[in-house]
Amino acid sequence: MSVRELVVLGTASQVPTRHRNHNGYLLRWDGEGILFDPGEGTQRQMLRAGVAAHDLNRICVTHFHGDHSLGLAGVIQRVNLDRVPHRVTAHYPRSGQRFFERLRYATAYRETVGITEAPVDGDGPLAVTPAYTLEARRLSHPVESYGYRLTEPDGRRMLPERLAARGIAGPDVGRLHREGSLNGVALDEVSEVRRGQRFAFVMDTRLCEGVHALAEGCDLLAIESTFLDEDAALAEEHGHLTAGQAARVARDAGVRHLVLTHFSQRYPDPAEFELRARAAGFEGELTVARDLQSVPVPKRR
Ligand SMILES: [Zn+2]
Repeated sequence: MSVRELVVLGTASQVPTRHRNHNGYLLRWDGEGILFDPGEGTQRQMLRAGVAAHDLNRICVTHFHGDHSLGLAGVIQRVNLDRVPHRVTAHYPRSGQRFFERLRYATAYRETVGITEAPVDGDGPLAVTPAYTLEARRLSHPVESYGYRLTEPDGRRMLPERLAARGIAGPDVGRLHREGSLNGVALDEVSEVRRGQRFAFVMDTRLCEGVHALAEGCDLLAIESTFLDEDAALAEEHGHLTAGQAARVARDAGVRHLVLTHFSQRYPDPAEFELRARAAGFEGELTVARDLQSVPVPKRR
């Protein structure tokens, strides 16, 4: 069975706290694992969350601040220590190439695994696989930052009653699906569009066009909400979002499950983030992220 879920490895902005590790998130998408923004301590959080180095196929870094990238050194060395048998592709802003290289080669180790460096130059697709298209969108932060979005291609859902009404059964269903028509019956007559699922990862940014574009129609959106609404001026100054801003984006984009994360250490009570998000009018499923929890991509409608 295919698994699609977000494993939360860490949720703290800037500095880890007693209860929150630096950022880190693993998206399981069918057989693939995409690691987002490994902050310091991600290697150990992976262990605690049951994520193996072998699970990683891709690493996506939004920007080169420590809470989003210091873990690269440890994770990359672990991938090599464990002799992961497949290549791992890394995406990050090209302007941070020197940071990536320093982290990749932070200390001596035996390099056994091919890491494909695939820096991001601007908005657009980064990878197309049968399971998804991965794209980047520029965000607004003091250093160059990109959000990421996975879009599964639309498929078709066969409708059993209509197939039966036309006497199509067994291997003919597959033939009709592949060939688009069979014995004068068109695929459209016996099936409907099955909308592809969508996930987006939006960290460290002010409100900007990229935030809205990434969130549009997402089944699952992981988005930073560093500040509470009363600190909106701080958020703007440092290039961050408030819980209310993140929730309004999600509401307007029709997001089904909103995951708020990347919290400033200044707020002791996580429940405040939920209150602000609800006050902002977001009515879908809502998770105020905790370290080591898993959030499934909502079931298809
Ligand atoms: Zn950050």
